[in-house]
Amino acid sequence: MDTYDPLRQPKPSIPPVTTTVPVLTFLGAAGTVTGSRFLIDTPTARVLVDAGLFQGLKPLRLRNWDRFPVPPKSIDAIVITHAHVDHVGYLPALVRDGFRGKVHATESTADLAGIVLPDSGHLQEEEASFANRKGFSKHHPALPLYTEQDARDSLDSFVTHPFDHEFEIAPGVRLRFRPAGHILGSATATLRLAAASDGSHDERTIVFSGDLGRPHHPLLRPPTPIGRADVVVMESTYGNRLHDDDHAIERFGDAIARTAARGGTVLIPAFAVDRTEVILFHLRRLVEAGTIPKLPIYVDSPMALAALAVYRRSMRDDPEQIAPGLDLHTDPFDAGNVTEVRQVRDSKALANLNGPVILVSASGMATGGRVIHHLKRLLPDPRNTVLLVGFQAPGTRGRRLAEGAREVKMLGGYVPVRAEVIDLEAFSVHADQSELVDWLETAQPPPEMVYLVHGEPDSAAALKLVLDDRDRHPTVVARDGERVRLD
Ligand SMILES: [Zn+2]
Repeated sequence: MDTYDPLRQPKPSIPPVTTTVPVLTFLGAAGTVTGSRFLIDTPTARVLVDAGLFQGLKPLRLRNWDRFPVPPKSIDAIVITHAHVDHVGYLPALVRDGFRGKVHATESTADLAGIVLPDSGHLQEEEASFANRKGFSKHHPALPLYTEQDARDSLDSFVTHPFDHEFEIAPGVRLRFRPAGHILGSATATLRLAAASDGSHDERTIVFSGDLGRPHHPLLRPPTPIGRADVVVMESTYGNRLHDDDHAIERFGDAIARTAARGGTVLIPAFAVDRTEVILFHLRRLVEAGTIPKLPIYVDSPMALAALAVYRRSMRDDPEQIAPGLDLHTDPFDAGNVTEVRQVRDSKALANLNGPVILVSASGMATGGRVIHHLKRLLPDPRNTVLLVGFQAPGTRGRRLAEGAREVKMLGGYVPVRAEVIDLEAFSVHADQSELVDWLETAQPPPEMVYLVHGEPDSAAALKLVLDDRDRHPTVVARDGERVRLD
């Protein structure tokens, strides 16, 4: 249980920068896929790119409790690339602990953060009160990492910016967001650092990929080419994988048709933001193509439904990030068979449904949320199917299911796995190896240095090998806590 323990030693603080050149420090998402936090110090400003929570295995989650390596009040501005918790989920703690600058994000990212952050605060409070009831915490009473109110307070710090416009966020630091095609609002962040006034270094351009989407996202514009960059900091979640797209849609449709034929239920644990939209989009297309029967679809996640409303609004009002050619005259998510389930009472009533249905419920890695109750009920029956449609981090129930576990623990007991479990990683919102390589090649001329972040060690190492083979630029797998000069 991750609750506050004052006996834990904080990590040593990063000393104040005395250098006259810009410096980049990897404060997270180095050697792992969560906790994105990158600090840029220049002689005139300190900027944090992403403020993510660590997720997954317990040693990682415990890092959320470490004192932040620099005083939050010493940070002039924070840049958020997108609204996933591992990129924005630490922000409420930074604001509560003294950060007083602005948080820069696209409009859709701010909208989605307004959904995701209060939910995260609520979960932190629930975890703390659970620990208090069960006596898990060494600290009494156990405190949440931050509260729902902290999360709401942090939203006041957001300022939003359109894509493809450059603006100054701190003295000598200019920022431009460009579509990253990962989730709605997701952006790459190009930081232009001014030349030193004494001539000791030139202007420097640093591009952060954030999380990079796939070129064929059905709803979103593909990631924008890099153009000119001195340094690129790129994610590597699937640095060792190639997605098999056509096959994935086929397997998705086949699994649903097969489950319907045997009278079972299809359960799709989906990340509340983006996966739900993409799943609904494909379900509609498969129904129209006659590949699957028009089954009732229940979306059982208040957060997913709130995000769906943001998608619908942005697709109407903010088309610059939407895939060209997408028909927006009809609802792309609903052919008339989708029911939105908000109340707990209605969620529980789903257990009484007869006949084949499709349930879409969060969380995507089965780490919490309503999907747990559905899994407990559906996993023991071989007529049912669980479709995993996103990255499953080590240590999560989703990962154990993907790896073929015969039983999984939930709600205090073990549940036998007799349902069919299918892992469709091609539905991921992350670019695969060849797509990452292709995107890097849009940097012209080749960058002076590429740092790989946001990947398990195997993925980052495999991607580095491929990039080294191509010999376009030096590539370094970033190490946790490492500081590098940017001059
Ligand atoms: Zn993400």
